[in-house]
Amino acid sequence: MGGMEPLERPIDVELLDVTKVFENGVVAVDRVSLQIYQGEFFSLLGPSGCGKTTTLRMIAGFEHPSAGEVLIEGRRMGHTPPFRRNVNTVFQNYALFPHMTVFDNVAFGLRMKRIPRDEIARRVREALHLVRLSGMEERYPRQLSGGQQQRVALARALVNRPRVLLLDEPLGALDLKLRKEMQLELKHLQMTVGITFIYVTHDQEEALTMSDRIAVMNAGRVLQVGTPMEIYERPASRFVADFIGESNFLRGTVQAASSAAATVVIADRFPVEVPADRQLTVGQQVTVAVRPEKVRLVPIEAPGTNGLLHGRIEEVIYIGTDTFYVVRVSDDTTIRVRSQNDRNRLDGGLLLPVGTPVSLTWATDAARILT
Ligand code: ATP
Repeated sequence: MGGMEPLERPIDVELLDVTKVFENGVVAVDRVSLQIYQGEFFSLLGPSGCGKTTTLRMIAGFEHPSAGEVLIEGRRMGHTPPFRRNVNTVFQNYALFPHMTVFDNVAFGLRMKRIPRDEIARRVREALHLVRLSGMEERYPRQLSGGQQQRVALARALVNRPRVLLLDEPLGALDLKLRKEMQLELKHLQMTVGITFIYVTHDQEEALTMSDRIAVMNAGRVLQVGTPMEIYERPASRFVADFIGESNFLRGTVQAASSAAATVVIADRFPVEVPADRQLTVGQQVTVAVRPEKVRLVPIEAPGTNGLLHGRIEEVIYIGTDTFYVVRVSDDTTIRVRSQNDRNRLDGGLLLPVGTPVSLTWATDAARILT
């Protein structure tokens, strides 16, 4: 992120307490405040219907807030129409003109603005070069693959040199392999051109791969904003911990508590040390969240093993790079463990069979308390 502290970075787009209520009474966006910095790759991530698209459309100017304000480059947008905002939008159904060549599709907006011919030619070539479509100028959309068509749509937006590019699930129509390639390309492109990207997706892996920061949304609200690592390693709520990656949610009772840590008894029998960012009270019911890949599994008979919990393997799911184990630690509690299959590891990366008694451990700071 350019090494600058967020405070010093200019803000390109700001939402101040923005709410959108549609005529049918649906509250699509509920008191959302966000600051998006210049040159940032910022994603809005959340399940279908959580208000991502509506948020993006209010930044673009296709919708207007029922309350609150959208600011672009520090100016209140009010009812400023889309074409007067220094932003461009790329949609999922990229809607190229089928009867126009690639060149003409990309040049269209510039011609409307009556920009001189040779400048248009230069800028179109530059934009097509950026999206790696040089040499395709004379093709028609039907002569391109889905990924290439999507790149034409990107070039068409980039050629206007907007300050901010808004992208609404732009890779949604592509198959998985192409989608993954395009994710890396888009990220690379964004770093090259230095334009601020605001990117809507419901795909958590996509958001983690591409973003400088992510806003996780649910039911019209922003639940957490942070870097991919912050969101993944320190989810602030059960929703975020569940939506991004996978988590074990273990119910427990606080046995002892200080301001920085607590001892929580899981499944009525296993006391576990967990960092706490707020004061908890003895006897309080909490949920301890721990990611499957943070749990280490050791055969119970191994000498010197001192696990946090003990149980028995109930299920083994081999997925090539890793194996998932489901370990039953009490009548009503199982824990999922993701273990890397690597024969070069000291423990041999063993595949343990169903029924094996095992100990489970994890680093103290790998677990989070969610109340
Ligand atoms: P998706 O990923 O499915 O596109 P989303 O997170 O982008 O979802 P929005 O499209 O912003 O969600 O919709 C948020 C809520 O507002 C939904 O309940 C939706 O049905 C509702 N909504 C969206 N547009 C309108 C509209 N024009 N009139 C009434 N309700 C709308």
